[in-house]
Amino acid sequence: MKEIVVISGKGGCGKTSVTAALAQLAAKDIVLADADVDAADMHLLMAPENTKEESFYSGKLAVVDQEICTRCRICIEHCHFDAISIEEGDLKINEIDCEGCGLCTHVCPLNALHMETQRAGLLFEATSRLGTPMVHARLDIAADNSGKLVTEVKNRSREVADQFKKDIILTDGPPGIGCPVIASLTGASLAVIVTEPTQSGWHDMKRMNDLLNKMQIPAVILLNKASLNAGLAADIKKFAADNHLGYTIELPYDPVFSKAISEGITIPEYGRDDLTDLFRQAWKIIIETLK
Ligand code: SF4
Ligand code: SF4
Repeated sequence: MKEIVVISGKGGCGKTSVTAALAQLAAKDIVLADADVDAADMHLLMAPENTKEESFYSGKLAVVDQEICTRCRICIEHCHFDAISIEEGDLKINEIDCEGCGLCTHVCPLNALHMETQRAGLLFEATSRLGTPMVHARLDIAADNSGKLVTEVKNRSREVADQFKKDIILTDGPPGIGCPVIASLTGASLAVIVTEPTQSGWHDMKRMNDLLNKMQIPAVILLNKASLNAGLAADIKKFAADNHLGYTIELPYDPVFSKAISEGITIPEYGRDDLTDLFRQAWKIIIETLK
């Protein structure tokens, strides 16, 4: 089984549009995974019909038994995160500030506190409107541990690929370069770096390349909006050649990308044969690189 992860570092490079376009062209061969769990948007293009929904639990939160608590304030004095207070006579744990360290449960002389595992999001198995098996997730508001949820998405997509006998998992990775991105890249056969000829796109592409080198994951570059800045586009191509990065295609800046997203369709569905041909070329190069 091969795992392709589409990443960009900087947001706004067209990562999700690119992933959706590739998914459209390879629909019968892939499992599609959306690992952008903090701000999932692939479902807007893929209109998945969920076949399974599971809660994702991660992290712990202190919970108080108001009947036992005498408001002695010992736990308040010990909490390093100022997560405990007394409001209107009740002991309150602030869910956002509580780091789940458990110290308060140890200092309470009456055992009035205990730790509970918290739901942090939802994990879905689905069928996209393209007929492709799909795994996606949604992190709850203000929940953390998105890296763990990304790992759940990855693990589940492998199980689904086995179940449906698909050899390729195509993953829309999270933006940035932190823990969720590293989680999405773990086990990847190939990364597709979607970049653009802007200073921030150029900068993040180099950071992505450093990360991929450390993780020993091969990568190819897809240059979006190439016509925005011919000079930087040439620099990016040179960087790819100098660093033995594969190069797929360059796409012109085209308002079709934002129009397609706003209409909830992929670029190939928009009917622009020139762009669709470029995506076909990109997929061919990606598959050849995988081999
Ligand atoms: S230490 Fe225990 S009894 Fe004292 S305020 Fe905290 S929860 Fe209540
Ligand atoms: S678990 Fe830790 S952070 Fe949370 S309320 Fe207790 S002492 Fe504070």
